[in-house]
Amino acid sequence: MRIVMKFGGTSVADLRRIRNVASRVRREVAAGNEVAVVVSAMAGVTNQLVAWCQELSPLHDAREYDTVVATGEQVSTGLLAIALQEIGVDARSWAGWQVPVATDGAHGKARIQAIEGAELIRRMARGEVPVVAGFQGIGPDRRITTLGRGGSDTSAVALAAALKADRCDIYTDVDGVYTTDPRIVPRARKLERIAYEEMLELASVGAKVLQTRSVELAMKEHVRVQVLSSFEDVPGTLVVDEDEIVEKELLAGIAFSRDEAKITIRRVPDRPGIAAAVFGAMAAENVNVDMIVQNISAEGTTDMTFTVGKADLPRAKAALAAARERIGYAEIAADGDVAKISVVGVGMRSHAGVASTMFRTLAEKGINIQAITTSEIKVSVLIGAEYAELAVRALHTAYGLDAG
Ligand code: ADP
Ligand code: ASP
Ligand code: MG
Repeated sequence: MRIVMKFGGTSVADLRRIRNVASRVRREVAAGNEVAVVVSAMAGVTNQLVAWCQELSPLHDAREYDTVVATGEQVSTGLLAIALQEIGVDARSWAGWQVPVATDGAHGKARIQAIEGAELIRRMARGEVPVVAGFQGIGPDRRITTLGRGGSDTSAVALAAALKADRCDIYTDVDGVYTTDPRIVPRARKLERIAYEEMLELASVGAKVLQTRSVELAMKEHVRVQVLSSFEDVPGTLVVDEDEIVEKELLAGIAFSRDEAKITIRRVPDRPGIAAAVFGAMAAENVNVDMIVQNISAEGTTDMTFTVGKADLPRAKAALAAARERIGYAEIAADGDVAKISVVGVGMRSHAGVASTMFRTLAEKGINIQAITTSEIKVSVLIGAEYAELAVRALHTAYGLDAG
């Protein structure tokens, strides 16, 4: 079999763990598999690199940001290659540009366009293990690019597709995908299987166990993804097609995110074209808008509330200020102290009452809902950040997800 093994930051956090990773890789090689490895930067390194860029200049050049933050992965590839060689495994490190992993030019959040797999396949066939830097690639300007935080998952899935691997194993610091973050809810339950669509939705609303783009790619390229522990030998979670799940549950899980901020525009004229003006201003600045609430009031004006990514808040506010005359609002209020809680499951397609259970449970805990959005398999609510953990725990119990 041909396998891509991906190890995240905590799995390569120090030399002892890198040796542990090396011995896991050796085990797969010894079992007769062709193996390629993708690694992240050692835990904490990327955060430090990002912080340095921000400290020097809050609005730094994205190309130089990529030059800096891509270095963490390069260290890991070299160290793991040495550790593998040390235990008798033929290994070679590969930076993104060497493979090459070709991306578009969106520095800081680039998308992979193509991976040249032939040379790696040749080397794997003769028993060499390529150790490839996750998170990075090379753009059309021939400069280093990075894929956005958590991007090594996407590197691994893309590599698995390019190498036509039979499996993509994502090794991390939890032993699978749970009904919610097991660090927040100890009673969370490990899922044996989860549908691509559910995993995609959970990732996109905050479950950072897999980067959203990696799930999208796995679904499109039919890559078999497994999430499992670097530290324990226990079965992980398989991400599969919906029809491969025999016992369908109503919900797959609950996710939360503190990465959004709420903007309220007070007393906007209630006439055609206003929403176009407000959200046109956001789009022009490349600011993604998520939840939207609009109220009708009696005096011909209305309040409009919506959420944007916290990182985009300064740009969103500046764009609204610049468009003030065109929109004609009285004032703007921004609130970063919010959390979005989402319940996700394909069972929602055929079962009513998921949203009402959510609203009732939050009401019983005295938690006020500030905004709501839904999709076919998801309901999200915006609440005060201080209630996030209470809400997730209460909902987990209310939907019968607690481990028995
Ligand atoms: P890595 O460095 O290996 O990529 P991440 O920190 O990116 O690891 O992702 C693993 C983390 O995802 C876990 O430590 C856990 O706290 C978090 N997480 C969030 N939601 C879930 C979930 N539903 N199931 C499992 N882990 C989750
Ligand atoms: N090191 C990068 C990050 O911390 C990529 C990854 O870990 O997936 O975001
Ligand atoms: Mg990750």
